[in-house]
Amino acid sequence: MYLYNSATHKKAEFVTHIPGRVEMYTCGPTVYHFAHIGNLRSYIMEDVLEKFLRYEGYEVNRVMNITDVGHLASDADTGEDKMLKGAKRENKTVMEIAQFYTDAFFSDCDKLHIKRPDVIEPATSCIDEYIKIISALIEKGCAYVAGGNVYFDTSKLERYYIFNDHDEEDLAVGVREGVEEDVNKRNKNDFVLWFTKSKFEDQALKWDSPWGIGYPGWHIECTGISLKHNGEYLDLHCGGIDNAFPHHTNEIAQSESYLGHPWCPQWFHVHHLNTNSGKMSKSKGEFLTVSLLEEKGYDPLAYRFFCLQSHYRKSLVFSWENLDNAQGAYHKLLRRIAALNEEGAVDEAALAEYKTKFIQQVGNDLNTSMGITALYDVLKAPMDDATKRAVLGSFDSVLGLGLIERAAALREREAVQVQTGGAGGYTVTGEGDAEIDALVLKRYEAKKAKDFAEADRIRDELKAMGIEVTDRKDGASWRRV
Ligand code: AMP
Ligand code: ZN
Repeated sequence: MYLYNSATHKKAEFVTHIPGRVEMYTCGPTVYHFAHIGNLRSYIMEDVLEKFLRYEGYEVNRVMNITDVGHLASDADTGEDKMLKGAKRENKTVMEIAQFYTDAFFSDCDKLHIKRPDVIEPATSCIDEYIKIISALIEKGCAYVAGGNVYFDTSKLERYYIFNDHDEEDLAVGVREGVEEDVNKRNKNDFVLWFTKSKFEDQALKWDSPWGIGYPGWHIECTGISLKHNGEYLDLHCGGIDNAFPHHTNEIAQSESYLGHPWCPQWFHVHHLNTNSGKMSKSKGEFLTVSLLEEKGYDPLAYRFFCLQSHYRKSLVFSWENLDNAQGAYHKLLRRIAALNEEGAVDEAALAEYKTKFIQQVGNDLNTSMGITALYDVLKAPMDDATKRAVLGSFDSVLGLGLIERAAALREREAVQVQTGGAGGYTVTGEGDAEIDALVLKRYEAKKAKDFAEADRIRDELKAMGIEVTDRKDGASWRRV
């Protein structure tokens, strides 16, 4: 496949250290709050990337950390500890917070068809790895102790800050507001590897180390976890664009200084999901979650469809109207797939031909919108339905839109047509849900009594539940859209 590489600022053919095998690392969530749908955009795109590589025939070892210690409010080592902040907010212990939001994260991932990585490692379970790496960095003269903390010395590097083609705006996110000068740092970009002199007297998680009792900095965890599970040669590193600096820059600095050879040649960064009022941010506390989408009657997979419609290297604007459109298109697509016949034999030659074309299209810098277009091309193609279903199912092993299962469920639901009678011969035809039938009848009664405000209110309520009502002369039909 061809991938844009943030490290070289070019699109090039993706190659791996060991042919046929991908060592892949993804920066995982900081589990002090729910993931917002912006975070999840990054994980959706990374999930499609992993599935695409497997589709191409690679064996993939994907590793993800869970940040449950060490991430301060500013990515530049200042501000409050994010985990402590979460624990205080909810009056729980840091470990309770970490467990709760880790579970919540994976539950959101399940709803969005994001596959679990092969290895999931909480930062708190690899302390020995960090101590080993930090000790070696001090020995090599790449790190120093000052004011009780251990710092990485960026002046010893030949190159630093290699992702510098990003927008100032994106980079500014990395060094967020309220950055205080740390007088212990010898150089502006030096960063903490190990904190012993924490500003937080109440820091809950602490471990013994050669430099005193303390806890690791945020960046060292990804180096430690990746070296442990991916080995010394990483092929592909992923994250949201705000991770590029300083997080990934610092990961490269410490990993390469430790290893003494280049570490990861390919960097994949997903651009942000924004709202009209700006970037979605967990720390501001106001953000959209998968549960909120569900409460509002949206299918999480419609959100996945929405993300796949645009390219990962462009920022994406979220609005309810945009999501409505995506959900409408997704459901229409499901309807078309549901209408395909089930019988017949698959034309294997056609299936192989379509697969090759799909690999070319999506393999051009993970062009997911071309992947979606390919679905419509299949539906229009002069092929029998059995082959169409096979090709769509095959593409969906990359896109993860649940096309075949959802279409089958839709067919089943629509096969159940239940009639409920009302006054004056009025009948409600639907998918067999007494609660919805009752609401549709209630709307009819309100209309009959000329209480149009109430009738409209019920119609809106039904709409919010994802129910479309069509009035007939002698009644109404409803269906889930
Ligand atoms: P965090 O839980 O803050 O460590 O972030 C988890 C992942 O989400 C990281 O890869 C971030 O770079 C990414 N991310 C954060 N904000 C956004 C956003 N608005 N849109 C897309 N990805 C984001
Ligand atoms: Zn990381």
